[in-house]
Amino acid sequence: MPEPSEHSLATGRRFDTVLIANRGEIAARIQRACRELGLKTVAICSEADRQAPYINTADSFLCIGPSIAGKSYLNPDAILLAARLTGAGAIHPGYGFLSENAAFADAVEKAGLIFIGPPASSIAIMGDKIAAKRAMMAAGVPCVPGPDTALPDDPASVERITFEIGYPVIVKAAGGGGGRGMRVVAKAEQLHEAIALTREEARKAFGSPSLYMEKFLQHPRHIEIQVICDDHGNAVWLGHRDCSMQRRHQKVVEEAPAPGIAPEIIQPVGMACVEACRQIGYRGVGTFEFLYEVGAFYFIEMNTRLQVEHPVTEMTSGVDIVRAQIKAAEGQVLELTQDGVTCDGHSFECRINAEDPDTFLPSAGVITRLALPEGPGIRVDTHIHAGYKVSPYYDSLIAKLIVHAPTRAQAMARMCEALAGTEIEGIATNIPFLRALFEDHAFARGETDIHYLEQWLKLRR
Ligand code: ADP
Repeated sequence: MPEPSEHSLATGRRFDTVLIANRGEIAARIQRACRELGLKTVAICSEADRQAPYINTADSFLCIGPSIAGKSYLNPDAILLAARLTGAGAIHPGYGFLSENAAFADAVEKAGLIFIGPPASSIAIMGDKIAAKRAMMAAGVPCVPGPDTALPDDPASVERITFEIGYPVIVKAAGGGGGRGMRVVAKAEQLHEAIALTREEARKAFGSPSLYMEKFLQHPRHIEIQVICDDHGNAVWLGHRDCSMQRRHQKVVEEAPAPGIAPEIIQPVGMACVEACRQIGYRGVGTFEFLYEVGAFYFIEMNTRLQVEHPVTEMTSGVDIVRAQIKAAEGQVLELTQDGVTCDGHSFECRINAEDPDTFLPSAGVITRLALPEGPGIRVDTHIHAGYKVSPYYDSLIAKLIVHAPTRAQAMARMCEALAGTEIEGIATNIPFLRALFEDHAFARGETDIHYLEQWLKLRR
């Protein structure tokens, strides 16, 4: 039973129909949350996604363009037109695609619709990593050593900054994203060439040559803090996640809470994140990403959207993050206070990708057989079914396997079982690789750094 017209409690930002401007597992996940809240849904799709199951379960749907994302999921005009044609009152951008595009958020609100996300101004600040760093420093969030200003052009000033930070340093594009537009500089002889190369890359890839420099941390873990805020100055953090298991800066396995971090160390960081949200007038859900090394946290960026790995925090906090996000967009007062936030047990998420487990090359095609695991503490977020055609056009994520158990060791054992019970035939997946990883002793001990997975893969070759 959906909740009886709960959204009618909204304070001026009411809507009864949500257009979900995304695809895949997250489109299905958002649709479920909307239905539970008694909201109608509009699905949009590209030509490649016409057979997706969430198309049939939406109240209405529109095919908005060709398979190429640039002409469909990344086309703001097509999405706004679809909203107008279907009478949607709000747009949920999901993750990826237009979710962190300030101009899109602005266009949605200017069209008289609600953008289910933060104000465009917050997205713009966080999209410029220098502005983000400055805002974080002002709010008392610990940052990586290095100035919160763009790298100057003149070589002598650059050398002075580098000397103050000390080698190794990392040069990063202010507008960078997706792990691109950054370069590590180990010694002085490489400095000016590295800057010139990164500047050129940044100009081409992100349309801005603006760079900044910070200390390169050699063995950090990736720890992030989930926040949720309303429009009335209330903000809480829902705990932390460890996403250090990465390959080419892409997260593969995530867990909550991050193991081995004392509450008294993370507590002030969480509170500083909440304070930063208040200072920038943030609304909805967001994630502060940190590098963590020898007991200290260093902010690297904020993601102003729902994240792929949000379920692990849902499992440990008991909070439905998508539902809370929609309610915040409606202008409702946050139901939660910081004292009410708890962390129960341990959760892992595995990203099941349609890719070769050895070469990691994407694998497209028809799923001929599918068996998904079931049982206590097991959750699968997916849009696939037997007969589903995995398209070569998009990200290779086809399912998320999430487990929850009282302890980390039990959660690991449960994930081993869940992976063993997942059978996908017709395409290649990374399941064999994930199964091997969950047998690894160092991973089982916890606290491995962001380079661990790549090193582990090299040793296996
Ligand atoms: P993007 O927006 O492209 O994801 P981030 O700033 O989040 O960029 O950095 C991506 C990854 O690059 C981090 O997860 C980390 O592995 C590495 N990285 C970034 N900054 C540093 C740093 N100062 N020291 C060490 N590694 C870094």
